[in-house]
Parts: sequence; C-alpha cells; structure tokens
Amino acid sequence: MIARRRFLTAAALSPALGSLPAFSPARAADDHARPFEAPYAPVLSQPSREIRTVVGLRPYRRSGFRLEREKFGRRDVIHNYGHGGCGVTLSWGCAQLAVELADGIDRKRTAVLGAGVMGLTTALLLLRRGYEVSVYGGALPPHTTSNIAGAYWHPTTLFAGREAVTEEFLMQFVRAARIAQRKFQHLANDPAYGVYYMRYLNLREAPPLKERTPYIEGDDLYTGLATEENPERYFGYGYVERHHALMIDPDIYLRALMQAVENAGGRIMQKNFETADEVFDLKERLIFNCTGLGAKALFGDDAMAPARGQLTMLLPQPEVDYGYVTGTPEGYLYMFPRKSSVLLGGTVEHGNWSLEPDQGERIRMLAGHAQMAQRIAAAQRA
Ligand SMILES: Cc1cc2nc3c(=O)[nH]c(=O)nc-3n(C[C@H](O)[C@H](O)[C@H](O)COP(=O)(O)OP(=O)(O)OC[C@H]3O[C@@H](n4cnc5c(N)ncnc54)[C@H](O)[C@@H]3O)c2cc1C
Repeated sequence: MIARRRFLTAAALSPALGSLPAFSPARAADDHARPFEAPYAPVLSQPSREIRTVVGLRPYRRSGFRLEREKFGRRDVIHNYGHGGCGVTLSWGCAQLAVELADGIDRKRTAVLGAGVMGLTTALLLLRRGYEVSVYGGALPPHTTSNIAGAYWHPTTLFAGREAVTEEFLMQFVRAARIAQRKFQHLANDPAYGVYYMRYLNLREAPPLKERTPYIEGDDLYTGLATEENPERYFGYGYVERHHALMIDPDIYLRALMQAVENAGGRIMQKNFETADEVFDLKERLIFNCTGLGAKALFGDDAMAPARGQLTMLLPQPEVDYGYVTGTPEGYLYMFPRKSSVLLGGTVEHGNWSLEPDQGERIRMLAGHAQMAQRIAAAQRA
C-alpha cells in the first residue's frame, strides 16, 4: 500500500518525528497533544458504561448569526445570537464584534440577556471595558445549551451554504473565528478553563472525488492540518483529514466564565423574559441580546430554528486522547474525550424541537462507536 500524505500548512513542513514515544495512558482532556503515529486506545462503547444521554438544540439560522445593532426608541439592542453548532468556537470573536458595535453609544450601564457562552463572554468583555453589567438568563450554567456543546473548536452547522449568506456576514465570520481561536490558544492547558489540545481525525472510507476546499476561516487555524491516504495507519479508512484540535470542556469552561464575570464585578441573575416589552422595562438602555434560540420568540426572528443534537456520555477513559468524526450509511459519528466522560455524538436534525432522547438514535450511536472501536483495536493488533 502506498501511503500518500499531503501537508496543508507551513507548520506541517517541519521535519518528521525521529522516534515515537512509547504508549502510556494519557490523561484525557489534559496537556497532551500526542503525535498521530502514537497508538489509539479503543473506546468502550457499551450501555453498561453510559452515564447519560442528552439532547440540545443548536441555535441555527440559515443566513448565519445575527450581529447587529437595532434601535427601539431610546434603547439600543445589540444582537449576538444564532451561532448554530459553533457558538463556543466563535464566542470570543462574536463577543468582541458585538462590544465594538456599542462604540459611540454614551452609556456605561448595560444588560446582557442570556447566560450561555455568548452572554457570559460578551459580559466579560464589557466589564473589561469599564461597563457596569447585569446578566439575565432564563437558564444559568450548567443548564444552558452551551453546556451541552461538544465542544470542538470548529465552525460548523452555522449557515446553509455560501448562497445563503452575505459578503458582510462572511467578513464578520472570518474575523470572529480568528479572534476566538487566538483567545482559546491562550487559555489552553490552564486547568481552570478546561481548554486543551487533542489529535483529531476526520475519517472517510475513500478519498473525496473533488479537491478539498480550504476552510473559509483559514487552514492556518488548524495546527498541523494534513490529509493522508494511508488505510494501514488509519484503521482501514482510505482518507483522513487530521489536525491537532482545540477542545473546550463546557462544564469547566462555563463555570470559569461565570466566576470571571462575577470577579470582575458583573451580576448574574436568573430571569426569563416573556416579551420584548418586558426587556424594555429594564432600567438599562444598552442591551446585548445573547439569547440563542430564545431570540426567535423574544424578538420575533423567524429565521431561527433548532438543529437538534443528541449526545451519549460514557464513563471516562483517561487513555483515550484523540477524537474523530466519520460518516456511516446510518449517519455521522463523532467522539471527544473529556476528563469527566467520553462523549459520543453524531446527529444534526434541523427543525426538530424535541428535547426527549431518541432511543433508536442512542442505540445507533452506542453500536456505531463500538464498531469503530473494534476497527481501531483490530488495526492496533495487526
Ligand atoms: C449536541 C450539540 C453539540 C454541539 N457541539 C458544539 C461544538 O462542538 N462546538 C461549538 O462551538 N458549539 C457546539 N454546539 C453549539 C453551541 O452549544 C451553541 O452554539 C452555543 O451554546 C450557543 O451559545 P448561546 O450563548 O448563544 O446560547 P445558549 O447556550 O442557549 O444560551 C442562551 C441563554 O439565553 C437565555 N435565554 C433565552 N431566551 C431567553 C429569554 N426569553 N429570557 C431570558 N433569557 C433567555 C437562556 O436561558 C440562556 O441563558 C453544540 C450544540 C449541541 C446541541
């Protein structure tokens, strides 16, 4: 078998590793970013190791997130919602752009609606600019959609193709992605934040027919990005796109964000608003709307729709120090290890509002990832 490897970034042009370290169990979600040549420990995908199965609704907008200022009488509302499957990924960047939209508004007292990743990050940046900030969330961490996120650093499930978005949106998106990625780099491996690097494999049975399109946000954001056609190394898969990915453990991360907001003098309150008029009763006249899917009802944005995702968490396996995504005839499968669990996922259902776990889907995931584990184990034995 001829192994073909295509390196895509300058970073990947560095000399090949001379010798491989011996395999020793890594600590998942820790300070390891092992080389791709190191062994891959199979996931124990069994019902007896299941901790829970959860469902979350990604706040999806066909035309991408809404990041703009709107005037309601004497009030300014800055919208920052609709980040689909990548709100954690884009958080620092979109929050930065949102805060910049307040430049020139002479008010220092603000309300932030929403206590998910977008609201808390926006609040933190406002506090650092000297604003007085009150955060109002119908749900607070750990009960937000942000706590359900993967959260693999990668913009995905954000908009419905290039024809659905404007040039202005694409510019906002690229800038936001680049700001956010740099910020997460600085948080990596600080145990207080739960941000870490991990080797990540996008596995396909066969090479794609068309040449790979570079990521809009820039291939350089993916450390060591390369494609490889080497089924012997990659468990029989004919094609892999791989890189060292940034991962964010949302439970640790959101806890840290809440603490950072409070330490900086922000107030976080549980409060749900039924209508926009209720929002306008607040004393603050500068309002950041970070309500995610809630913006649909609250501000009547009919473009918002759920993109439902279901995840099954298994008992942690410290030796699993890589993640993957792959397609199967039954749907996608992805796996990310964390300190507290091994996360199995693979569903995106547009327009489905149900928060009830689908048992058929749960079984598909457990079985699909078990098959994947067998494939990995067999390849390690060979
Ligand atoms: C299964 C799954 C996997 C995902 N994987 C990833 C991933 O790998 N990487 C990634 O970056 N992202 C991922 N996401 C997407 C990510 O979770 C979202 O994009 C992100 O959480 C959106 O953040 P948010 O703060 O805008 O919304 P939310 O976290 O939903 O927060 C919204 C806040 O607004 C509040 N709110 C809403 N309406 C009102 C109201 N009327 N009054 C008061 N408060 C209100 C809510 O209570 C909450 O506090 C995933 C999502 C799911 C479901």
